[in-house]
Amino acid sequence: MSNQAIESLKRGTGCELRFDDLSRTLYATDASIYQVQPLGVAFPRSAVEAASVIRAAGEAGVSIVPRGAGTGLAGGAVGEGLILELARYTRHITDLNLEARTVRVGAGVVLDQLNAFLRSHGYWFGPDVATSSRATLGGMIANNSSGARSPCYGTTIDHVRELEIVLADGTIATVGQNRDELADKRSAIDRLVERQADEIRRRLPEGLHKRWPGYGLDFYLRRKGDLTRIIGGSEGTLAGICGAVLDIVPVPKNVGSESCSSRR
Ligand SMILES: Cc1cc2nc3c(=O)[nH]c(=O)nc-3n(C[C@H](O)[C@H](O)[C@H](O)COP(=O)(O)OP(=O)(O)OC[C@H]3O[C@@H](n4cnc5c(N)ncnc54)[C@H](O)[C@@H]3O)c2cc1C
Repeated sequence: MSNQAIESLKRGTGCELRFDDLSRTLYATDASIYQVQPLGVAFPRSAVEAASVIRAAGEAGVSIVPRGAGTGLAGGAVGEGLILELARYTRHITDLNLEARTVRVGAGVVLDQLNAFLRSHGYWFGPDVATSSRATLGGMIANNSSGARSPCYGTTIDHVRELEIVLADGTIATVGQNRDELADKRSAIDRLVERQADEIRRRLPEGLHKRWPGYGLDFYLRRKGDLTRIIGGSEGTLAGICGAVLDIVPVPKNVGSESCSSRR
């Protein structure tokens, strides 16, 4: 990327951006074995800032790598393009609704931070990834993470109601079961999963408690029109996740001795 393009990115987006060697080196690694020096790092404070960075990078032909805490083991958070660092500023927790059992989080909220907030109300977030002191909800959704209690609570995407996302062209959208945005994308995916329905059911049968990330074609097949199901596990390749509305579950009275049946 030319210096001129970097200057116009800095001027045009209103987003905090770093192109110095120290920042690029710090973001060249994650918890994987890989090391790739990125072009720079962007620290958006909102979906609007993320959208302006993604749009400007697209126009300059630069790829975007969304990133949370960088605890992923497969190198998904490193790359040559511009790192979209969503862990630093998008850490707000709002709209707790105990009746509906939901809460709204920014992508950068860390799992332990969320559970510390929810516990005083008698709730927690079900999936218990082992890196809970670092992992962000954005990274957990993008990796469809889960932990030792996945037979009880399933995986992260089982607990996602809505996502605020930014697409590669800078479009900001809210997607979920009863949302009607991105109709063209939904019909394209409908056609795809319908065509491959038998194969998807054969390879990813219902009742699989825990599986690795990957496009949630099986989840989408069971909940057509809900784009959260396809974005969960997509490792930042379909959209940047800026925020989410999540389901919460009551903290059990005892851990390890209760039935799992009603917790999802
Ligand atoms: C010691 C150790 C133990 C672990 N234990 C578990 C475990 O029990 N269960 C488990 O599932 N995983 C586990 N992991 C893997 C990892 O911690 C989890 O997948 C975690 O949820 C990743 O969150 P993160 O914020 O660090 O994401 P990152 O590592 O930053 O990113 C992971 C992927 O998500 C994408 N991404 C991140 N944020 C966003 C966003 N806002 N929008 C779009 N895409 C985004 C990135 O591009 C990347 O592809 C473990 C890792 C370590 C090192």
